[in-house]
Amino acid sequence: KVVTRFAPSPTGYLHLGGARTALFNWLFARHHGGKALLRIEDTDLKRSTQDAIDKIIEGLDWLGLDYDEPPVFQSQRADRHREVALQLLEAGHAYKCFATPDELEAMRTEQRANRQPLRYDGRWRDRDPAEAPAGTPFVVRLKTPIEGETVIDDAVQGKVRVANAELDDYVLLRADGTPTYMLAVVVDDHDMGCTHIIRGDDHLNNAFRQLPIIKAMDSIEGGWPEPVYAHVPLIHGQDGAKLSKRHGAVGVEAYRDELGVLPEALFNYLIRLGWGHGDKEEFTRDEAVALFDIDAVGKSPSRFDLKKLLNLNAHHIREADDTRLAQLVAPEIECAVDLDLLARAMPVIKVRAKDTHELAAGAAFLFKQRPFDLDAKAAALMDDESRQRLTLVSQRLAAENDWTMEALEATTKALAEELQLGLGKLAQPLRAALTGTTTSPGIFDVLVLLGREESLARIDAQAA
Ligand code: GLU
Repeated sequence: KVVTRFAPSPTGYLHLGGARTALFNWLFARHHGGKALLRIEDTDLKRSTQDAIDKIIEGLDWLGLDYDEPPVFQSQRADRHREVALQLLEAGHAYKCFATPDELEAMRTEQRANRQPLRYDGRWRDRDPAEAPAGTPFVVRLKTPIEGETVIDDAVQGKVRVANAELDDYVLLRADGTPTYMLAVVVDDHDMGCTHIIRGDDHLNNAFRQLPIIKAMDSIEGGWPEPVYAHVPLIHGQDGAKLSKRHGAVGVEAYRDELGVLPEALFNYLIRLGWGHGDKEEFTRDEAVALFDIDAVGKSPSRFDLKKLLNLNAHHIREADDTRLAQLVAPEIECAVDLDLLARAMPVIKVRAKDTHELAAGAAFLFKQRPFDLDAKAAALMDDESRQRLTLVSQRLAAENDWTMEALEATTKALAEELQLGLGKLAQPLRAALTGTTTSPGIFDVLVLLGREESLARIDAQAA
């Protein structure tokens, strides 16, 4: 059974790259009817913050990614990590290294001078620990294989290999007994039963270091199968450079709050960053779960395109439920809002909006309290002629018993014909009077939404 995990370090926001990794893991698990797990890698206690943890969990929740078990906090598992390190030590797959920091610095200085790669040289690998004076602090290092190569058959990258001679004997336990990140990840992945490790390809190098622990533990106690690795290329900006703060790589909540993006739009956008299904652009969640698989994830970096995201957002806004949209944008409208009216207005508002802020702005006129000021463009329209026309419109509409789109349109058109005017000559001042602006949904929609009493009051407030 498939088990995936998303393993963010809570040192900052849930940015786009992280959200996409989370999404791919979640989709893969759901597609295969497996388990999606979450692990918070909070071992860097200085840089991890509760605020970041909250934001990550909130962001995942907003995107609709649910997890099958409560999150695992890596920092709480240090004892278990230590236990595995000691098992490795006992079985001879790890060793104590007593080299002092000064000694290691001297080693590196020499390597630098000789233009050698900076790497622990294995000086305690075969030495007898009894040679160290009693009480000397030590770290525990993994005895990585020297001969041969480590091969990873990556589900995205294909077969990638590294000569074992290039892998250093890295530290598993620090001198103070705390486990390193490299050890913690492997132990946690094993204990959580992860079958697939889907993550950014900046972790590919780590995989080569992590595999030897897995193999060693499997030889010691069995039951440590190699996971399937899938290292997904990173997201780049339009300029081809790795996505960074400079490209507006902020937390997902900024896409919600600042750009007015719906979660399903970001969800849809993110799955298309590096994965595709033919040239299909729009996916519901269910479609994505049904169609997603790791073998269609591409090998080259994808480019973040804000315009595409906003176009998708416009699409998802049109598809979204009107009551939900009304609840979403109501807090943004400054006046007291009638949710029911707001929901009824959505069909005509949302066809003109790319984001939730535009929805709020487009619907605001409905809730203006009389008397209200017209904006500059609308005010400029309101000359004597317009005001007189409004008086005529008001008289006709007041006599209208059937307050429907069709009847209102017929009545207004008839008046325009009588006056030998284009409909626009009546519609423009009417729109200005009804909405205080020069852009709005169709004028007959506006009349119906506002209702008879409110419409006539607004018209009369501007009429001559
Ligand atoms: N905590 C790591 C990160 O946020 C991910 C580790 C992993 O996926 O193995 O980059």
